[in-house]
Amino acid sequence: MRRVIIIGSGPAGYTAAIYSARAGLAPLVLTGERIGGWLTTTTEIENFPGFPDGVLGSELMEQMKRQAERFGAEISIDTVTKVDLSKRPFQVFINDRIETAESIIIATGSSARRLNVPGEDRLWGHGLSICATCDGFFFRDKDIAVVGGGDSAMEEAIFLTRFARQVQILVRGSEHELRASKPMLERARANEKIEFIYNVDVVEVLGEQIVRGVTIKNNQTNEERELALAGLFLAIGQVPNTQLFTGQLELSKGYIVTDCKSTATKVPGVFACGDVADWKFRQAITAAGTGCMAALEAQRFLAEKI
Ligand code: NDP
Repeated sequence: MRRVIIIGSGPAGYTAAIYSARAGLAPLVLTGERIGGWLTTTTEIENFPGFPDGVLGSELMEQMKRQAERFGAEISIDTVTKVDLSKRPFQVFINDRIETAESIIIATGSSARRLNVPGEDRLWGHGLSICATCDGFFFRDKDIAVVGGGDSAMEEAIFLTRFARQVQILVRGSEHELRASKPMLERARANEKIEFIYNVDVVEVLGEQIVRGVTIKNNQTNEERELALAGLFLAIGQVPNTQLFTGQLELSKGYIVTDCKSTATKVPGVFACGDVADWKFRQAITAAGTGCMAALEAQRFLAEKI
């Protein structure tokens, strides 16, 4: 039996691993499918303290992993299929294998939101992508579009201009309702390959084997039209990865509920940190901060209760 199992390997999971490993708790980190979390799919991160020249997301996560391993965290490339938090020791299932632990730190993060429109499932991975860093290369000199009006959409669009002929950003709100931060927005607006289209909903992704365009609807006039595109990138936010915990932990709008100023859930010994419990900030640095909190709280729990 383990003292701590950490589920997830983003900034929250790895920070929890660094702190709990350094405290001698020999944590087991179950990485999930995307080792290092979704930051590994972003490009440069300019606002993580300590990196005045920016750092690649993948590099930052690799450094965190190495730091956790240095103190004795065991990092296992496994995806959890079920958990039983009804009694201690808690049980964590990885297909048929069961790991048990006196405390659990949940850092499962969030996943890309989807449009839920016709054509999306069929064309997923066939010109429809959620990762410019992974797939941008395939669109050299092509016309493509990015859906979304937040920082992710700006970042993806700017990155994609390295390859594409033109990048259209499809925003469902107006010009004044963009969520993107000022510097990101200014950078996107200054890029001559980028064009914004406002007040549009994507109603269908077109193409049989591969994306050939989208149908967009102006949500002010209801007028529909087709855009010819070789690729479509979604950057419309995230949904928390809490399916494993439904019915076992209290959730609010899908996010795990924790006590105010704490990572404690309603189940003693179970802590949640990072984006899975944070609808508000969702930053790498806040995720890392709550990962640290979770490790310290798990440590205290183990010292007091076990
Ligand atoms: P956000 O939640 O900030 O933005 C999501 C965007 O997608 C909004 O414009 C939203 O529109 C739109 N949207 C949601 N659902 C749909 C839909 N069905 N159809 C069309 N549009 C839709 O998510 P992000 O991923 O952009 O950012 C998350 C956090 O990560 C933010 O705090 C951001 O600052 C941060 N971040 C920082 C980066 C950096 O600093 N380099 C890079 C990327 C992200 P609406 O406004 O109408 O709801």
